[in-house]
Amino acid sequence: MATLSPSLRPGGLDPTSRLQYLPGVGPNRAATFERLGLVTIEDLLRHYPRAYLDARTFVPIARLTPGPLLTVTGTVTSAAAMRTRGGRTDFAVTVNDGTGALGCYFFGQPFLARVLKKGVAVVVSGTVDPLERRMLNPLFEVIESETADLLHAGRMVPVHALTRGLTARMVRRAVRDALDRAGARVVDPVPAALLGQLELLPLATALRQIQFPDDDAALAAARRRLAFEELLLLQAVMEIRRRAAQQTGRGLVTAGPGALATRAVATLPFALIEDQAHAVEEIVADMRAPRPMHRLLLGDVGSGKTVVAFLAALHAIEAGHAVAFMAPTEILARQHATTCARLAAPVGVGVSCLTGGTPAAERREVATRLAAREPLLLLGTHALIEGELDIPHLALAIVDEQHRFGVRQRASLADKGELPDVLVLTATPIPRTLTLAYYGDLDVSRLRRRPADRGRLVARITGEEKRDRVVEFMARELAAGRQAFVVVPAIDDAARGTRTAQAEHKRLAQHPDLADYHVGLLHGRMKSDDKRATMDAFARGALHVLVATTVVEVGVDVPNATLMVVLGADAFGLTQLHQLRGRVGRGPDRSVCVLVPGRAATPQALERLGVLAGTEDGFAIAEADLTLRGPGEPWGTRQSGLPKLKLADLARDEALLALARRCAAELLDGDPQLQSSPYAPLRAALLEHYAEALELSLAG
Ligand code: ADP
Ligand code: MG
Repeated sequence: MATLSPSLRPGGLDPTSRLQYLPGVGPNRAATFERLGLVTIEDLLRHYPRAYLDARTFVPIARLTPGPLLTVTGTVTSAAAMRTRGGRTDFAVTVNDGTGALGCYFFGQPFLARVLKKGVAVVVSGTVDPLERRMLNPLFEVIESETADLLHAGRMVPVHALTRGLTARMVRRAVRDALDRAGARVVDPVPAALLGQLELLPLATALRQIQFPDDDAALAAARRRLAFEELLLLQAVMEIRRRAAQQTGRGLVTAGPGALATRAVATLPFALIEDQAHAVEEIVADMRAPRPMHRLLLGDVGSGKTVVAFLAALHAIEAGHAVAFMAPTEILARQHATTCARLAAPVGVGVSCLTGGTPAAERREVATRLAAREPLLLLGTHALIEGELDIPHLALAIVDEQHRFGVRQRASLADKGELPDVLVLTATPIPRTLTLAYYGDLDVSRLRRRPADRGRLVARITGEEKRDRVVEFMARELAAGRQAFVVVPAIDDAARGTRTAQAEHKRLAQHPDLADYHVGLLHGRMKSDDKRATMDAFARGALHVLVATTVVEVGVDVPNATLMVVLGADAFGLTQLHQLRGRVGRGPDRSVCVLVPGRAATPQALERLGVLAGTEDGFAIAEADLTLRGPGEPWGTRQSGLPKLKLADLARDEALLALARRCAAELLDGDPQLQSSPYAPLRAALLEHYAEALELSLAG
């Protein structure tokens, strides 16, 4: 300690200081920390443990039993490094506490000789190996003074995420030093009045307890407080965005009186269901209002979102504006174009689909028609608005099957027109808590019921060994003039997915029961022309069975398909499976989805699949998925510019989320720009962590 410069006295560090100034860290190790995204002292303090080892049970060595994690205190009586035949150097010590001796063995850690010397007092936590009667790689701590806190053993030991070059001990040591030197000075974004009112721990206490908890109750209180803080920031962002959107007065009315849509409805081959009619009303009301719409249309696959979007588009077209309808893939864009062309023809509106392959001449023609303000509905992928095409008078952007329209995409839209209305269609039934947490700034319309003329959709779980029975069943469906999808597992490795699909394709194509039928193959490594040809053949009925790899490519409307077989079903999330199976059950006939879990599927995975067999309600399935798997990132939070929640758990913290939401709204009601001094830390934290998501609404 004597060598420390004055600015590095204990207590002399700032939370914003870089980690290299922490004693024992230095520039090299700081660079290693940076690989974990940890740059400042505060970053390290907020590098929350991902788990804790409960090493609080102290016993005399004589009473050690194999199995549980136990702790002993004693003196090192022998220490020796030893070279193994494999050329590794291991390290062994004996610890004695007066009741007995315990052997500890450390694989490949000869450097421990420097700290675990004969005669030193130690605390050792570990499990006794039942065969060898010793502890292998135990946690340990050398006791230098009676009063020093334990960090590594004999307590609730924090387990941090590590990276190459950082050991658990280094991280715990650094966190402890950071807490001691700067923990009390981390600025708390939660306003003090709120802390008192909600009886939340002060930030410094919470950081100490989340890192090195005294007991379970202290840990729970720390977690609750820090989770609240995360949710408060997130909800403040949502509130600010919502308020900002409502204030942008563009004064542009982008919906006509609706005669065109009324005529189109009259020519539909079906009547709109109530949810659809209601959604159209909500959307059109937004379009008439002098502020840009940002609305989410949520509805299961097959709930009929396309026609709702189409009718909204007609309102804009009637008012003389352009509409861009974007799908995630070219196949889907073309399919929407076909659907819309059929719906639009009777009312004299043109439909044009632009994709990567569209020839330049056709692009020019579309540009001319747009410039002349011809009534035209434009379809394509996201390239539509990201590309070079100029879309004058763009008033409505419809985005299919994407959860969050990214900030970047919004920006490129703003280039094209004033700030068009945005309607996002998504088939992911987002659970309620997630809608609140991540979409609190958007308006939501829901299609809860599927159009009534649909056949029942049944899900069955079948073991691998019954795959021939599945083929028999498939043959019967095909004999009745139906079609079938076979989906192979979503594996990260595209090459492996392709091989699996090829093998399954071969198996089915050669299967005697399917001799009379044509089996097609669709995988991610095919050229887009070939994909399109295969898809078209399946849609026409020229192919009877389609073996496919990815989710998106099967995102097609083939009402004649009544069977879907999903292989390796346990590899998919429930929501994903639910979306997949929505590709069948689109026509009037009874449809079946057969889920075939892989051989290695766990009982939990099978239980999850059981949820699917039990209900058709996508929202119920999404809630179950959230509870069983945790939120993960399937709801497109990454592209939203929102940082990941570290401690808050949307499956468990619903009440805390509601509380944070209410608090954020109250704070902003009282001080919309967060300009008063008690809110300065909150404001600073928002600007630091949510600049992108806020599009700097608070700046200036
Ligand atoms: P999604 O919500 O998955 O995008 P679609 O819009 O593709 O669903 O609709 C699925 C099918 O349901 C389409 O064939 C569509 O024509 C049909 N459909 C939509 N609305 C109705 C309705 N009210 N009654 C009967 N069929 C409908
Ligand atoms: Mg759709």
